[in-house]
Amino acid sequence: MVERNSARDGSFEKLRCDICESSCCVETEMTLTKKDAERIDALGYKRLEYLIKGSDNFCELRNIDGHCFFYDPETKLCKIYEARPDGCRYYPVVYNARKRKCVLDDDCPLREKVSRQEMRKVCHKVKKNVETLMMEAQRSDGAC
Ligand code: SF4
Ligand code: SF4
Repeated sequence: MVERNSARDGSFEKLRCDICESSCCVETEMTLTKKDAERIDALGYKRLEYLIKGSDNFCELRNIDGHCFFYDPETKLCKIYEARPDGCRYYPVVYNARKRKCVLDDDCPLREKVSRQEMRKVCHKVKKNVETLMMEAQRSDGAC
């Protein structure tokens, strides 16, 4: 199994990121909490290299040559897999604040491989992550 996104945790057993042709690591818009950035900083990376301030004060992973700063296009691996942002960990499960529920993101071509049970298992964590992101963005004291 390719170590790219959620697959290796065992939380999404049938999600085969290794056969995915439209990786979520390409042109990523993944947002990071302060805690995510602290975990990545501990590996020796500098926030100026890997973070950008996106819209509405959200801090996002920087793209280089059309892919996430941490994505290696040759090996198709995430260089910081163990320390990747929580949003990457839970993807393709995302929280739709307007509908107030977890959904599977349309951009993941293999989203139907994630079962309802698996989605339910991580939903509270996904929701909490979104709440933290929103709070940090409002206070302007987030990762970037
Ligand atoms: S888009 Fe879906 S299947 Fe593709 S790498 Fe991301 S999580 Fe895996
Ligand atoms: S941090 Fe890793 S899993 Fe997340 S978008 Fe970047 S390469 Fe993909």
